Amino acid sequence: MTVYLDHAATTPLDPGVLAAMRPYLEAEFGNPSSLHAFGRAARQGVEAAREQVADALDVAPLEVLFTSGGTESDNQAVKGIAWAARDAGRGRHLVTTAIEHHAVLDSCRWLAGSAGFELSVVPPQPDGVVDPERLLAAVRADTVLVSVMAANNELGTVQPLGVVGPALRERGVALHTDAVQAFGRAPLDVDGWGIGALALSAHKFNGPKGVGVLVLRRELPAVPVLHGGGQERGLRSGTFNAAGIVGCGAAAALTAETMATQIPRLRALRDRLLGALLGVGGVTLNGSATARLPHNANVAVRGCDGEALLLALDAAGVAASTGSACQSGAAEPSHVLAAVGAPADRAHLRFTCGRTTTEHDVDAAAAAFTDCVKRLRDAGGGFL
Ligand code: PLP
Repeated sequence: MTVYLDHAATTPLDPGVLAAMRPYLEAEFGNPSSLHAFGRAARQGVEAAREQVADALDVAPLEVLFTSGGTESDNQAVKGIAWAARDAGRGRHLVTTAIEHHAVLDSCRWLAGSAGFELSVVPPQPDGVVDPERLLAAVRADTVLVSVMAANNELGTVQPLGVVGPALRERGVALHTDAVQAFGRAPLDVDGWGIGALALSAHKFNGPKGVGVLVLRRELPAVPVLHGGGQERGLRSGTFNAAGIVGCGAAAALTAETMATQIPRLRALRDRLLGALLGVGGVTLNGSATARLPHNANVAVRGCDGEALLLALDAAGVAASTGSACQSGAAEPSHVLAAVGAPADRAHLRFTCGRTTTEHDVDAAAAAFTDCVKRLRDAGGGFL
């Protein structure tokens, strides 16, 4: 028996998405920038995918740039917008939160450390949600960019962009959001919330790995991070990854079409799982119970070591996570759990459901969890 409950780390490629990609890995191999028939055929696939993504987010196709993933999109947004604002003499101050993915946090820190910017990092409340008042209080006259994720990858907590965004728009400050985890799992209103830039990663919504999206509103100036052939409005040079881009478009369309049914389905599965996990003594929920993505259950387990519990579950055929898989291999505690003051002497396990998850999966995971926790506690918790 194997049960995959780590959809925040990555998701399986949807069969329909693979079918859409296949021609672009085979017959339609042309370079989408070539003018001949081979190139034009591949380019058609790229532009159709751009429209699919634009429709899914209700933005204009020209505002959709394809990248190599969430990491690149975040880097391009943060550095590109900050550099353009600095070059225009508009200021050098950035604001972000302590629970951002490292792609945002480390880009901001790098700018502050080596490129003459100043950075304010706003901590979350203990429930893993950033207080909008506190965030807006950090904005100064020389602030050129605020970067706040739409939802956190570890805790699943949904951030108050609907409050922050319009307030920033009124003050003329650009907002970037990392929506890598939120897309398809929570509403995103690019126009209504005044989002200037938004990052997605196809492999988080049943698309292929190595392809992402940066939505960059047409009125927001940005400087390219990658220089070269000048593709993507000059902002993302490099030969188009046609098959990946087509897969990203197909996955975005699938996600947008099925979101209304998937969200309640995921919530029911997650609640069924969470109910069982919390029924085991000494298990508590990390992060807000309400401002939370529907697929995420992140729990603290008393009397167990995180890695020991993860490995015990793995041996029992259940794949979960002890934190963010994007920095995997790192045994140090996650900066997100540290920022919300999660006790270091407990196991912190993240279970995330997805399109392929069934009731049988969550029941099997709950049974394995109950058994593993008991065995581990009986053996002293598995602490090193
Ligand atoms: N941002 C968030 C919130 C993520 O969860 C991840 C990956 O887990 C990324 C960015 C990075 O995306 P990618 O793997 O496409 O580089």
